[in-house]
This record gives sequence, structure tokens and C-alpha cells, in this order.
Amino acid sequence: MPAAKRRLPSSPTQPLQKRQKSSTFNPRKVATADAAAAVDRDPPLLKLLSAIENGVKKTEKGSSIVYWMRMADLRISDNRALSQASSQAHKEGIPLVVLFAISPQDYTAHDRGARRIDFTLRNLALIRDSLAKLHIPLHTITHNVRKTLPSCVVSLLKELKCTNLYGNIEYEVDELRRDIHVCHLAKASNISVHFVHNKCIVEPGLVKTKEDTAYAVYSPYQRNWLSTLNDNVSRFIDESPEPHPNSEQVRKSKEFSHLFETTVPESIPGFELVQEDRKTMETVWPAGEDTALEILDRFLHTKARSSQMGIVSPLADGAETSDKASRIAKYNTDRDDADRDTTSRLSPYLSAGIISVRACVRATLKLQKNSKKVDGGKETGIGRWIQELAWRDFYTNILVYFPRVSMGRPYLEKYADIVWEVHRENQADSGYEGDPVGDGTQDSDGLKRWKQGTTGVPVVDAAMRCVNQMGWVHNRFRMIAAMFLTKDLMIDWRVGEKYFMQNLIDGDLASNNGGWQWSASTGVDPAPYFRIFNPYSQSTKVDPTGDFIRHFVPELAKLRGDDLHNPSASLADKLGYPRPVVKHHDVRDRALRRFKNPGEK
Ligand SMILES: Cc1cc2nc3c(=O)[nH]c(=O)nc-3n(C[C@H](O)[C@H](O)[C@H](O)COP(=O)(O)OP(=O)(O)OC[C@H]3O[C@@H](n4cnc5c(N)ncnc54)[C@H](O)[C@@H]3O)c2cc1C
Repeated sequence: MPAAKRRLPSSPTQPLQKRQKSSTFNPRKVATADAAAAVDRDPPLLKLLSAIENGVKKTEKGSSIVYWMRMADLRISDNRALSQASSQAHKEGIPLVVLFAISPQDYTAHDRGARRIDFTLRNLALIRDSLAKLHIPLHTITHNVRKTLPSCVVSLLKELKCTNLYGNIEYEVDELRRDIHVCHLAKASNISVHFVHNKCIVEPGLVKTKEDTAYAVYSPYQRNWLSTLNDNVSRFIDESPEPHPNSEQVRKSKEFSHLFETTVPESIPGFELVQEDRKTMETVWPAGEDTALEILDRFLHTKARSSQMGIVSPLADGAETSDKASRIAKYNTDRDDADRDTTSRLSPYLSAGIISVRACVRATLKLQKNSKKVDGGKETGIGRWIQELAWRDFYTNILVYFPRVSMGRPYLEKYADIVWEVHRENQADSGYEGDPVGDGTQDSDGLKRWKQGTTGVPVVDAAMRCVNQMGWVHNRFRMIAAMFLTKDLMIDWRVGEKYFMQNLIDGDLASNNGGWQWSASTGVDPAPYFRIFNPYSQSTKVDPTGDFIRHFVPELAKLRGDDLHNPSASLADKLGYPRPVVKHHDVRDRALRRFKNPGEK
């Protein structure tokens, strides 16, 4: 489907972003089984590490050092590549330049939504100002053809007489391949490349089974992860030094002064947010490193509040300080209550790298009287929260060692043949040539209703309306909405994965794909296919007071108890709420049959 025809689905309240325009660029979404198997056998991260290892070791002193900031490391503090780049620049007495390359084709290919792009730009603008105070320029370029980005970057390095490039590794296949290409081009130009691990607490590849393979099950991974971490805590979580300022002279120099003039654009064509949504995002997800640290601080020291539902600042007044009943202290018991801010809501900041995940771990140690060991157990709030951060590392490790998951393939190839329901009006069959998910313009009625939150199943509708309004929803609600799409509506998980990626502000390929493949039972350590969530009993568990549903589904605001979780047809009709799009008990059997016999209808 040509990107020119892309249009995002609208929510019941407002269109989330304007129509996306582009040329004929058409990224292929689903690899063949053979291609995916070949990439699994030879993961691109290992190729990148070897390209770095075989790169230029000793360089002549250049005129600058460049740190290439990417979309997932939008911070100055505790940023390994930035810190190392700065240290070399300082030692050699040459300026540090920070580069950010806007690559719209990558955003299209990776289903980046306007909210995430806007969040990136808002944060970049603050970073530019902070770096300027250190006389470090943030040089922002826009490069339209993603295939030629490596050569564009290397040409720029040559222009800046830079002989050392630094960056934090991005683990998605396309990004790894881009960086391998950068390494080759840089080597030919005698430039040394330093790409380092920064995203995870324990970097991919360190936690392995006895057979020297990657774990595909979380629990043993987490145990090994925790002991690896605790064997040498400081190696994993010590803070990287802040960057040194450049000499003020750099602002006057012929080679560099112009770099201070580049500004961060307010928006990127094709990814503009409508004004109302922009304002909402600014309220719910304010930008900045200090903001992220304050959100963490609130999570560690204040109580959960029911006023934190919907369009409200995470730093709204009125949070009550309490160390015993703080959100983290209660996390092991209360985290599934979605009618209050029981969880940290740091995922947008972690996904964009605005806060360092190491800073999160260090904060928990401080909270435990400067403990030297990280608590990763089930019994405490802190331990449970650390386990969630381990899920983030786990899914990143999966992305690295089973890159198939970022190529549109199921982790469990045996489920590749599952027959999904037609989700596009003109979709002749469910074969997947090219883009399997479509551009949203021809959604089937069921898919439209799922996206809009009008399925007639209150818990699913509340979840989806929360996604549409806040760009975020609690983990349990993500699972319920995803399970409903893939098992009740029997719609391909990749369709939901794309919608989440386009609308969540915390969209992260590894975690999003992990969550979707878990829900669809096609992934690592998945929900077994026969354990299909009953959305009505889930609803009473995750929203016992009903406050969450009443907030997001105002048609039902007057209902209580079973009427709220599962309104009768007459009640629904009276309130102007839709009847259920499917009957759970009927469609459950269809899912069981199709998962038991992939390929059969
Ligand atoms: C279908 C589906 C899609 C998802 N898509 C994303 C996504 O695009 N980006 C994303 O960051 N998370 C995703 N998650 C994981 C999880 O839902 C969110 O990380 C979490 O809800 C964020 O809220 P929080 O920051 O309050 O989390 P907390 O409960 O405070 O947890 C702290 C941090 O741990 C990490 N974390 C927590 N749970 C998970 C998990 N299950 N998997 C991986 N990391 C986790 C996140 O970085 C989170 O910020 C998805 C889950 C599902 C089921």
C-alpha cells in the first residue's frame, strides 16, 4: 500500500494525527519464514559488534568528536555514549558535537505515531537548550531517504573533521543494519566508531542458559539476570559522568558556529499532531529529564491517587507523601488497580531514554537504606517493580537473539499459518504478502470498533479509549484489549501491534511486540492459547470499583456491579451503548479450534 494513502483511524473523540503524506516509499512488513530463520541464525547485533571490533582502532586527532543521539536516548545525564564522547573530546581539547538525524521514512517503516514524534521533538528542544549552556551544539538534520542515512552521516563526520563517532546501540534489525553500514563506511574513511550498550540494565547477550543460548522463558531469565546484576552491581548501574562543557570559543569558530543555529523543528510533515491532542500530550506527558526524575520521585515517595485518571499532569498538586504507603511500597499488592496511579507511568520516559533505567535502579537502592544488592523478589513493592524492569531487558534480549520478531514473524513459527478473520473490507484472503495490516482506511467493522472503543465490551472499550485519549494504558488493560482482538475478534496480532505503536506514547518495538505476541500466544513464554481471557471476569478483577470504566466510558457512568461490567442488551440500548460486537462464549471455540489446528478455519 503506498504510503501516500496512509491515514490513521480516528478515535471517537478526535483524529489523533493528520494524514501522513509520503512518496512511493513502501516498507515490506513481513519477512518470509526462511529469511527470518536466516537472520535468527546470524543476529545483526553480533555482526555489529564484530564490525566495531574490526573497525579503526587508532585515529589521528581530528577537529571534533561526534555523539549521534538516537530516538531512544534523549537525555544528557547518565548517557554512556555521550559521556564517553565528551571524555575523549575533553582529553583531546576538541569540541563535542551532538547530532540528531530526523528520518521520516524510518518513522513510517516503524509505525511511529505523531504523538511519539511530537514527544521526541519536545524533548529535543529542551536538550538543545541544555547543551547550548555547555557550548555544545545539537545539530539536527532531516534526511528523507533512509537507505542513504549512513553515507549522509559519514559525509557530515568528514565535513566536521571528526575521527571518532559515538552512539548508543539500537537493537531493532533495521537500526543494527544501518549501524553496520555506518561502521563499514567509517572504516573506509578512517573514522573510529564506538557504539555502546545503554538501553538495558543488563545488556543483551550476558544472561544465557547453561547451553549458551538465549532464554525464551522469563522466570529463569529473571533469576539469572538478578544474580548477574548482583554479582557486580556497580558495573551495571554506576552513573556515567555528565558531559564536560566545550570551550566557549567554539561558538565563534568558523567550522562550528553555524551548528548552534540549527533549530529543532516543531513538527515533521506527515507526523503533525492535531492541536488539541498536542495540548493533551503536553499535559499528560510533560517533557524533560527533570520532569522524568520528579515522576520517579513521586512514585517512590507518594501515595496513589484516584484523581490521576485521564487527562491530568503526572505532577499535579496534592500528592500525599508517605514512605510506608507510597506507590512503590504498595506496588506488589496494588499494581493491578488501574483506577489510581499505582504504577510509575515512566514507560514513555524509559522508552525515549529521557530517564536512565540505571537511575531507576539506583533510586531503589537508596530507598532501601543504600543497599548494595538489588531486590528483585516478589514479596516487596521494590522487588516487584524491579521485575518489571527485567521484563524490559528480557524483551530486548529476545529482539536481539530472535530478530524474527521484529520482521513481522511469530516467535513460534508453528502459528504462522493461523487463519485470522478478514480485517480489511477488500481483503480477499488472509495471505500476507507485503504489508499485512493495511493503512486503516478499510478496516472491517470489528476492527473499527476495537480501535474506537465501541466493541460493547466495557473493559475493552475503556482500555482503548484510554489509549486514544492518553496515549498510554495500564499493562493489564493492554493485555485484555490485545487478547480480545486476537482471540475474540480473531484479528491478526500485527494489526493491533501497529495500532498500539502508532498511538502509544511509549511505543517500543521490543516491549510492544513482546506484549502482543504474549497475548496472541505466538511469542516467547506466551499465554497458552487455551487460556483465553474472559473479558467480563477480567473486568471485575482489574476494575473492582468500576471507576476506570465509568471514567472512560461515560455512557455507563451511572451503572454499578455486573450491570457495569456486562450490561444487558436492554440496558445498553437505553444508554446508547453498543451491544457486544461478538459473543465471547461463541467465538472462544473458534479461537481454540484455529490455534489447535493452525491453517484450518
Ligand atoms: C500488548 C502490550 C503492548 C505493550 N507495549 C508496550 C510498549 O510499546 N512500550 C512499553 O514500554 N511497554 C509496553 N508494554 C508493557 C507494559 O504494558 C508497559 O510498560 C507498562 O504498562 C508501562 O506502565 P508503567 O510505566 O506505569 O509501568 P510500571 O509498572 O511502573 O513498570 C516499570 C517499567 O517496567 C517496564 N515494564 C513494565 N511492564 C513491562 C512489560 N510487560 N514488558 C516490558 N516492559 C515492562 C516499563 O519500562 C515500565 O515503565 C506492553 C504490554 C502489552 C501487554
